[in-house]
Amino acid sequence: MAILIDGKKVAKEILENLADETVFMNPVPGLAVIIVGEDAASKIYVNSKKKKAAELGFNSIVVELPENVSQQELLNKIEELNNDDKIDGILVQMPLPEHINKNDVIEKINPLKDVDCFHPYNVGKIASGNKPYVYPCTPKGIIRLLEYYDIEIEGKNTVVVGRSNIVGRPMAQMLLNMNATVTICHSRTKNLGEITKTADILICAAGKANLITEDMVKDGAVVIDVGINRNKDGKLCGDVDFSSVEKKASYITPVPGGVGPMTICSLMVNTIDLHRIQKNI
Ligand code: NAD
Repeated sequence: MAILIDGKKVAKEILENLADETVFMNPVPGLAVIIVGEDAASKIYVNSKKKKAAELGFNSIVVELPENVSQQELLNKIEELNNDDKIDGILVQMPLPEHINKNDVIEKINPLKDVDCFHPYNVGKIASGNKPYVYPCTPKGIIRLLEYYDIEIEGKNTVVVGRSNIVGRPMAQMLLNMNATVTICHSRTKNLGEITKTADILICAAGKANLITEDMVKDGAVVIDVGINRNKDGKLCGDVDFSSVEKKASYITPVPGGVGPMTICSLMVNTIDLHRIQKNI
């Protein structure tokens, strides 16, 4: 039976230590999250980010813009935040409405305030084996979890399912930079199970409930489930068929309570790191 990787507990520990540090900071770190439109899931994510930042005593603001906001108005808002000394990190919540060019928006953010590592400057740093100002929140949280549980990465066969810019691609590159052997799978991959079965560390970020079943996992593998889905009963679940895979894996993350809390925790850590860089402390 696998050991449960308890992201909730690890995130709580990290955040408690952060709170001890931030209490003495003056000025306080500042985080701005921009949300466009009324996407219900995005609103939930943004509110929990705002709440956590406020709990840590950050200057925490949410900029809500209507669905029909023009691209120029959004870019102007980002420019304003780029020039605001009280804001150290800027996050634009995805997805954006179709009339807005996502790349133009991402490139408008000052790379020094790019708190989720979306800007091509920071992405390029990771891709070339260098350090960005801060690492993207979800992959960073996953690496913290692996480190916390003393799971070795170097030389391990790792398989990442998913190639999105927010999870799969940076995850794969960060593992490569840590000397893992990395395979990336995606929706056009053939014989997915044959490939996932080679993984010592399997990271699933496809957003498909029950995509990974027990027969697709090697005995003793470490299984990290990034997916957030709803099952037939409306309950939250990941991409991994938890009840069967936990019998075969050595370590496994639950959903909820695994990667999710670490993502938000990384966002707080990144805000403080950017604050330190910008304020030279
Ligand atoms: P995305 O839709 O942008 O990307 C999904 C990726 O999975 C794509 O690259 C696609 O090729 C691949 N994929 C889809 N179906 C597949 C299949 N049948 N076989 C193999 N690959 C397949 O999604 P995303 O933004 O990367 O998010 C992925 C999942 O992770 C979602 O459920 C999302 O809600 C969740 N997520 C969780 C956190 C967290 O903090 N826990 C953070 C970000 C995303």
